Amino acid sequence: MSQQRSISIFGATGSIGQSTLDLVRRNRDQWRVVALTAHQDAAGLAALAREFEAKIAVIGDSARDADLDTALSGTNIGRASGEAALVEVARMGADFTMAAIVGCAGLAPTMAALEGGKTVALANKESLVSAGELMMAAAARSGATLLPVDSEHNAIFQCLSGGRIEDVRRIILTASGGPFRCHSLDDMRKVTPEQAVAHPNWSMGAKISIDSATMMNKGLELIEAHHLFPVGHDAIEIIVHPQSVIHSLVEYRDRSTLAQLGSPDMRIPIASTLAWPVRMETPCAPLDLATIGRLDFEAPDPVRFPALRLTRQAIEEGGARPAQLNAANEIAVAAFLQKRIAFLDIAAIVEAVLDSYRPHTPKELADIYAADEEARRIAAQMVERKAA
Ligand code: NAD
Ligand code: MG
Repeated sequence: MSQQRSISIFGATGSIGQSTLDLVRRNRDQWRVVALTAHQDAAGLAALAREFEAKIAVIGDSARDADLDTALSGTNIGRASGEAALVEVARMGADFTMAAIVGCAGLAPTMAALEGGKTVALANKESLVSAGELMMAAAARSGATLLPVDSEHNAIFQCLSGGRIEDVRRIILTASGGPFRCHSLDDMRKVTPEQAVAHPNWSMGAKISIDSATMMNKGLELIEAHHLFPVGHDAIEIIVHPQSVIHSLVEYRDRSTLAQLGSPDMRIPIASTLAWPVRMETPCAPLDLATIGRLDFEAPDPVRFPALRLTRQAIEEGGARPAQLNAANEIAVAAFLQKRIAFLDIAAIVEAVLDSYRPHTPKELADIYAADEEARRIAAQMVERKAA
């Protein structure tokens, strides 16, 4: 990486955004920061934009427009706000875009970045879940390089380098099982958001932490893998591996199985995208197998974790089903975080939304948004009923 490259980070104030900036900070001479974005934290965004001498800072929530302006006063850093600005800035076309907004809110900017034909590192799994076919088609049209950041998909991507997708027999996604892996259904009824966000191995944003606790995260990752690695969803399996040391595995037709291992630190997969196709130094802990001692595996429990069944059904039915599932889940997770519904209500609401209507087959992004909006509306009604 001798030549300086330009980088934009969508969701710069989040867990993935901060980890990305940590690596950029250690290699300042190699990167020129174009755009940094955040949803509402104007002060946090402005601090990062000043530190990294960003060309432009974008706040997603227009109501924070003035806050950003004040926080950036005295600098010549450009500023913009609102959803349309996120897309406009994504079109500015940095050499490398980190798509790390959480939720379907990241879809439009990620799509715009992919259309630019440069390198896009994708953490924002919800966008791929909702609009996987359209996103993969956009990348193919523009010639963009799509590099998966999600640790499992990054592991699979690494295990596939040097192999051919047509020689793959099976992909095995590992799952930690989350904080409630050993809880009974009865215990799961009473868990609080504080208990649910306390992931045993990873430190992450609130939404993905709740998704890990319900195992919806692994379901979303199944859909994500189905789009990124076209082997057919029947050839993608999930195994619970509580230590989160093996990040995923690829079995080839000769029954040789490759795995990628590493400490549970997202800077490792992020670094592999920043440096791709070569490698860079990271400050991450090396893998200490003697201390780890043993690696355990178990089959996931479909009764306590219905999200796995719901996501598999959504892939089979295809179309806008995954978008509908994702939107219902986003509403239910937000309601659980606000203590308006119970933990087990999350999957129940997602299932009820899927049962409530069948969305039209999507042809363009507008159809995805229509399915997304309808699912959000119905899920919100269900939340109101449960919260009442
Ligand atoms: P986070 O909540 O820590 O950060 C989210 C970022 O997105 C913040 O910068 C926030 O300001 C921004 N944002 C939130 N809502 C927005 C909106 N409506 N419009 C514009 N910006 C918005 O989340 P995170 O843990 O960093 O996760 C980001 C994405 O990466 C998610 O899709 C998650 O599933 C995925 N991911 C995260 C991890 C992890 O370890 N954190 C691992 C794998 C995948
Ligand atoms: Mg993951």
